[in-house]
Amino acid sequence: MEGDIDRILLTSTQIHARVREVAAEIAETYRGDETELTIVPVLSGSIIFVADLIRELPVKMKIAMLQLSSYRGDTRGELRTLLDLVGDVSGRDVLVVDDILDSGQTIRHIKEDIETKNPRSLRTAVLLRKPDRAPADLHVDFVGFDIEDSFVVGYGLDYDDHYRNYPHIGVLKPDLTN
Ligand code: 5GP
Ligand code: MG
Repeated sequence: MEGDIDRILLTSTQIHARVREVAAEIAETYRGDETELTIVPVLSGSIIFVADLIRELPVKMKIAMLQLSSYRGDTRGELRTLLDLVGDVSGRDVLVVDDILDSGQTIRHIKEDIETKNPRSLRTAVLLRKPDRAPADLHVDFVGFDIEDSFVVGYGLDYDDHYRNYPHIGVLKPDLTN
């Protein structure tokens, strides 16, 4: 697995330090007894981020999952719903958590979908954002890191469903994604 990584962009130490900072920002936003927080992890890429993030959040919360796929195997394609939202969002303070904001198609779709279910509030958090690609009009409330426009894996992010367990975030060797 490690032999497939061309270079590391973010080490697990850097990631964990930043996740704690983002958790503090989120905790500040949702402090107060009247918060009815529902975290919506976007499967599968956000699993490691969400697991680390929510354990740093001393806030009463529910979890409502959904799964989308913007590409299958190694080819990009249509956005497909693999698992419909499972859990409580109506009347609640919803925080959607995804691994990476690239073209913004995924986050935009999820925001529109959840808006129709009448949440009390709706915010978004992503671990990574590619500023060169993200549309200027798409607001996300919490961002871990802005990164270069390269295809990255590790810490939950996959290539063909592999490398999610790689602890750092790195760029794959070019011949592997061709
Ligand atoms: P968007 O809809 O913003 O274009 O893309 C978001 C989704 O595409 C992410 O949830 C992620 O699954 C996938 N994606 C986009 N860029 C990357 C990347 O660099 N690496 C990996 N592993 N997935 C990516
Ligand atoms: Mg994803």
